[in-house]
Amino acid sequence: MSAGYDYVVIGAGSAGCTVASRLSEDPERSVLLVEAGGSNRRLEVRAPLAFAKQFHTKLDWDYWTEPEPHLNGRRIFSPRGKMLGGSSSMNAMIYMRGNRLDYDGWAQSGATGWSYEEVLPLFRRAESNEQFDDAYHGRGGPLNVTQIKDVDPVCRALVEAAASLGIPRNDDFNGERQDGAGQFQVNHRRGMRFSAAEAYLRPAKKRSNLTVRTNTLVTKVIVDDGRAVAVELSDAKGKRERVDAASEVILAGGAFNTPALLQHSGIGPADFLRSVGVEPVADLPAVGEHLMEHPLVYVTYELAAGQVGMFDAEDSKYALKWLLLRRGKLASNFAECGAHIRTDPTMPAPNFQFLFGAGFFFEHGLVSWDAPAGVIGASYIAPRSRGTVRIRSADPARKPAVTLNMLSEQLEMDEMIDAVESAREIAATGPAQAVLGAEITPGNDVRAREQIADWVRTTCQHTYHPACSARIGSPQDGVVDSELRVHGIERLRIADCSVMPTVTRGNTHAPAVMIGERCAELLRQEAGKTPPQAASVPVTAD
Ligand SMILES: Cc1cc2nc3c(=O)[nH]c(=O)nc-3n(C[C@H](O)[C@H](O)[C@H](O)COP(=O)(O)OP(=O)(O)OC[C@H]3O[C@@H](n4cnc5c(N)ncnc54)[C@H](O)[C@@H]3O)c2cc1C
Repeated sequence: MSAGYDYVVIGAGSAGCTVASRLSEDPERSVLLVEAGGSNRRLEVRAPLAFAKQFHTKLDWDYWTEPEPHLNGRRIFSPRGKMLGGSSSMNAMIYMRGNRLDYDGWAQSGATGWSYEEVLPLFRRAESNEQFDDAYHGRGGPLNVTQIKDVDPVCRALVEAAASLGIPRNDDFNGERQDGAGQFQVNHRRGMRFSAAEAYLRPAKKRSNLTVRTNTLVTKVIVDDGRAVAVELSDAKGKRERVDAASEVILAGGAFNTPALLQHSGIGPADFLRSVGVEPVADLPAVGEHLMEHPLVYVTYELAAGQVGMFDAEDSKYALKWLLLRRGKLASNFAECGAHIRTDPTMPAPNFQFLFGAGFFFEHGLVSWDAPAGVIGASYIAPRSRGTVRIRSADPARKPAVTLNMLSEQLEMDEMIDAVESAREIAATGPAQAVLGAEITPGNDVRAREQIADWVRTTCQHTYHPACSARIGSPQDGVVDSELRVHGIERLRIADCSVMPTVTRGNTHAPAVMIGERCAELLRQEAGKTPPQAASVPVTAD
């Protein structure tokens, strides 16, 4: 048993760092932030292009799904960051909020306070944008947002190619409209990754009321008489300890670990919990249900003569350039540019995000191609399928079973095929032909729609965006209310991607930070404190 804190935040990821930092702005409140992983101060974290080097290492939870029923029974690798910053220390750094309709859809489904107009101030509060300062963007927040300086000619040409097909140019996917083609903004600062740990935790580290414990797994939320009163921790040596939370416990373990920890704590579908040897304390059927993810396929090409792309990025001259100037190929997040498109123009919002990269990225970047290559990744940002997260036993150290259940509907497969055809149309235009060579995947012999469907089933991956597994909703079909309180348990909230009612049409780090900002605001309002202001956490120099 150790001394308690006012707030215990579980997980130092995108949302957890945000919540812990904002709560500890109040010097009268003590905050404990517990993280299962360790430091993120490593080259493969800081150098943007190196993110895939973290896969299958100790920085990665290294999840694999159960055999996916609609993808030929393949188990799919699903990395998650296990370190300070969580998945924001491992991700591809694209800064994307999603579409206005995502949030308006949340509000219409009953998530009071989460419409676009209501979440926009939270995004702006979080943001420090080096390029934009207008009604959509903030300048004084902790999270640095910028553009890559040395954009590869292949990525630029693919933007030209999309524009030549009438896809409008868009310089700001987080502004008035999401549709169009252009350069992504990224969470970088001075050519380096700028994770939630850099943005929120580093400036807060000196505060005496914030304690950060790394290499410590939370094994259980302890519930007494319907109230979350403490957490059980296990340190690197397996030593167990109980830490009390006088005010609230905030669960921010991410879309796989949050529902798993709830289930280990007896919060979930009661019959299922009993079947795995856990005594239920609250019967909440939706814990671990409704999981969503963005399916992704890669249409890849050789590069035309004279184009190198990222093929030689590991050459020592680029390492030196990055070390000395923080510029060049290692400062790239790989998917430097992209487009948001509607495969059917009558759709209300984009259903695909195209990711343009000047390299071969297949099987999570873990297989190589022995010549320069380029890729159009087609990320399906408006899927419908829902999967599950379920613990396998009462052992909290055992990873849960995750089934993404992607592409369970024929309509989804039809749209995936449409997207492959759209990517090929882009590649066939003049500007793209100037930089691309022969198609590598799917390959010229895969043309008929049924052939493309087979190829999708054989190669489809995801965009690393699991969400919705403890979603906002009623006690029958949701886990938390609109103020992120777990139904039926007092003093327990969730703040991470798992609370999304539906996954946003885009990358999920910025929404996770926004959710963290909202959670901290709610807690501070309840404690009678002023909500955080835009510039209240200064960004420190590296
Ligand atoms: C390879 C990759 C590429 C991506 N690319 C992008 C991108 O370009 N742009 C973008 O916006 N998004 C991207 N994402 C997704 C984005 O990073 C995540 O959606 C987001 O970081 C999730 O935030 P979170 O707070 O929900 O969870 P996480 O950031 O995953 O945080 C959860 C934290 O909780 C810790 N934890 C979990 N369980 C416990 C426990 N029991 N005890 C203690 N600690 C625990 C974990 O170690 C982790 O640090 C990518 C993700 C990956 C993996």
